[in-house]
Amino acid sequence: GSSGGDEVSKAQTAQPSAQPTIFSKIIDKTIPADILYEDDQCLAFSDVSPEAPVHFLVIPKKPLTGLLGHLLLVAKKVADQKKLEKGYRIVINNGPDGAQSVYHLHLHIMGGRQMTWPPG
Ligand code: 5GP
Repeated sequence: GSSGGDEVSKAQTAQPSAQPTIFSKIIDKTIPADILYEDDQCLAFSDVSPEAPVHFLVIPKKPLTGLLGHLLLVAKKVADQKKLEKGYRIVINNGPDGAQSVYHLHLHIMGGRQMTWPPG
């Protein structure tokens, strides 16, 4: 999409740091988001710049690696809620070459169109 290059340019300069990210503000509700699911451990919300008809993120409230299984279960739960019965893609962008722009672990769940391979 048109914002894809923009994400990649953000990823060139984004850095992991101890500073809170934009996602911390979504978690503490100081900035708005289209929240699709929330429990004590994680939050699912629509991506502000969708690259597929359905594109949401599932993030842990705290960056605990043991939560990955829980995040995947929430991804499936919300994908079912979004009626992605024909399938969907789960992506984790990691580091500059992986086009990560927000340094807070998150799954991208994208569906509602035929995905292509390889991804860009
Ligand atoms: P990354 O490039 O780090 O894998 O993905 C970060 C994602 O977060 C991008 O797809 C971007 O559109 C999304 N994003 C960044 N800021 C916000 C925001 O303020 N609200 C929402 N809902 N999504 C955001």
